[in-house]
Amino acid sequence: MSSPVPDIQRRFAHEVVERLHGAGFEAYWAGGCVRDRLLGREPHDFDVATSATPTQVRDLFGRRRTLAVGMAFGVIVVLGPEGAGQIEVATFRSEWGYDDGRHPSHVAFSSAQEDAQRRDFTINGLFYDPVDDRVIDFVGGQEDLRAGIVRAIGLPDDRFAEDKLRMLRAVRFATGFGFALDRATREAIRRMAHQVTVVSPERIADEMERMLVGPDPAGAVRLLLETGLAAEVLPEITERPDSGKTPLAREEGTPEALAVVGRLSDPTFPLALAVLLADRVSVEGVRRVCRRWRLSNQTTDRAEWLAAQRGALREAPATRWSALQKILVSPGVEELLRWAEAEAAVEGREAAEVDFCRRRLAWPPEQLDPPPLVTGDDLVARGLAPGPLFGRLLSRLRDAQLDGLIATKEEALAMADRLRTSGEVGDDSPRNDDSPRSDDSPRRHGDAE
Ligand code: ATP
Ligand code: MG
Repeated sequence: MSSPVPDIQRRFAHEVVERLHGAGFEAYWAGGCVRDRLLGREPHDFDVATSATPTQVRDLFGRRRTLAVGMAFGVIVVLGPEGAGQIEVATFRSEWGYDDGRHPSHVAFSSAQEDAQRRDFTINGLFYDPVDDRVIDFVGGQEDLRAGIVRAIGLPDDRFAEDKLRMLRAVRFATGFGFALDRATREAIRRMAHQVTVVSPERIADEMERMLVGPDPAGAVRLLLETGLAAEVLPEITERPDSGKTPLAREEGTPEALAVVGRLSDPTFPLALAVLLADRVSVEGVRRVCRRWRLSNQTTDRAEWLAAQRGALREAPATRWSALQKILVSPGVEELLRWAEAEAAVEGREAAEVDFCRRRLAWPPEQLDPPPLVTGDDLVARGLAPGPLFGRLLSRLRDAQLDGLIATKEEALAMADRLRTSGEVGDDSPRNDDSPRSDDSPRRHGDAE
């Protein structure tokens, strides 16, 4: 389904409430969408809370236009017309018995007031009646919204004990809106941070992603460090760096990396992660974090690639074109450039190397990434069998082409013959690392992609 059109989505959310009212039920917009609208932001989805039971909701809107996604919890999805998206209609409920620190073992349908009490933060505990244009506030959410405070509803220790994920949500909402964490809420997180590890890695990663691609990733990391959550979810940035790396002056966090994260324009998750971790762990360490969080292969590979390329653009104008070109034609280059830009900004200098790279990237494709002069087929036709030598040979020819040492297929084949007879690219016996290839072809062409 295409993404909803805000006006159509909102009108539909209004209609859903009207329909429920018409059938004699109590119904409001609830939670995040109310908060967002009071903040003058466009909600990305609308949730409705109602006194109607799930069965009554289905009867009212029809089986064909509803999905019983969470019947037991009282959640019915109502499908909207084209452009309206879908709306979760949830029966007012109370929840208790969070024995695992993640999910309630008991749910009972209840009143609007009790439904507000089960929510996590006061700013998320508001209802709004779009028909009467009226806010219903059982938890002091409007005042906290005005003051810019994230405050747990009820006793913070109890609320975090019920669901430890809420600790990460608190940090996300605080930094996402530029709000302060209420003192009691913050202190409860400090006391309970070590319990966040019962949350599934996927959900931790999801919160981390939302913080790191949000409006204040550096602020989020600072708050994670301050509350002790970072030590649990990302100990790599609080422990001493891998041996062999320069120890930092401060035991906690990594101020340089944080400054760079704070200057990233439009960070992606893998980029922010690579920047945070690059001073602290090896490239393999970055991969381990991604694996721990069950990130997609795409995100993992990108984070790892970025960490491995770190600083590679620094001397771009002086870098051999065959080496620089491989980076510039890689799919992660835009993120790498943003990293370089942020680093330059933190160091208070012009990012001349980035300008240089961007000018190269503006080259026409046939100049930036010309088709190879020779292919594997050409080498086969010349009597070579595919194997390790083959790849090295192609890579050397590619580099020579990019560096302007050869310009035609004939020259390329002549070079191939020369390299083979001189043994410069080794032979097909197992790879000998002392072979005199030194700095020349550390990777095969294509490895950077
Ligand atoms: P966003 O969608 O921007 O992350 P949101 O507040 O809408 O923010 P959702 O996860 O969509 O967050 O949840 C909708 C509402 O459900 C919240 O506003 C809150 O009232 C309630 N809620 C969500 N998760 C929890 C939780 N872990 N504990 C208690 N209440 C929650
Ligand atoms: Mg939401």
